[in-house]
Amino acid sequence: MSERRYLVKEMFGPTLQGEGAHSGRAVVFLRFAACNLACTGCDTDFDPEGAVRMDAAEIVARLRELDSGGTRRVVVTGGEPTLQWDAPLSDAVRGAGFRVHMESNGTRPPAGAVDWLTVSPKPQHHPAGLALADGLAANELKVVVDDTVDETVIDRYAAKYSCEHYFLQPWMDARYEHNLARTMALVHARPQWRLSVQLHKIVGVP
Ligand code: SF4
Repeated sequence: MSERRYLVKEMFGPTLQGEGAHSGRAVVFLRFAACNLACTGCDTDFDPEGAVRMDAAEIVARLRELDSGGTRRVVVTGGEPTLQWDAPLSDAVRGAGFRVHMESNGTRPPAGAVDWLTVSPKPQHHPAGLALADGLAANELKVVVDDTVDETVIDRYAAKYSCEHYFLQPWMDARYEHNLARTMALVHARPQWRLSVQLHKIVGVP
């Protein structure tokens, strides 16, 4: 196993996947610290302050402890998980029988294997010179809708990513009602896309 020590913000479970095609499934979460973006309205605490360094064996042991129900399905997120996910950690986690569902902003390819890749692009928040990565084998595309997202934008994403599932999700900020109405209008205009809501927030789990 790798001796690398990964910067882990938190691990928790069992809980539910709240978004996308696996919404409602029992999962455990592995959340890495740090992100390469700084999106306005980000509701995720990925600050390295308070994160802990763990090696692959420690991460696997903690996943096993958390997975009391035996779902063997872990959502790997951040921050931006591709900043730290690598082949040794992938081998350790998948070798322990976990299916890995990664949620990435799409700016970098994962350096280790995953079983399900969700790409949630936010190029309106990219620093100058940072583009979406080409050739990502995404299983689902999830676009969080605010005023910058319109039919032209989602058509461009659908052309870039050939995947099984396309989701539009209203940004759950102070303008949620407005964002939801905009999302619904887009779903009606482009039925290839489906509505995703943050189920975990509705049912009150982390
Ligand atoms: S990419 Fe995601 S985690 Fe990173 S700042 Fe944006 S919304 Fe937050």
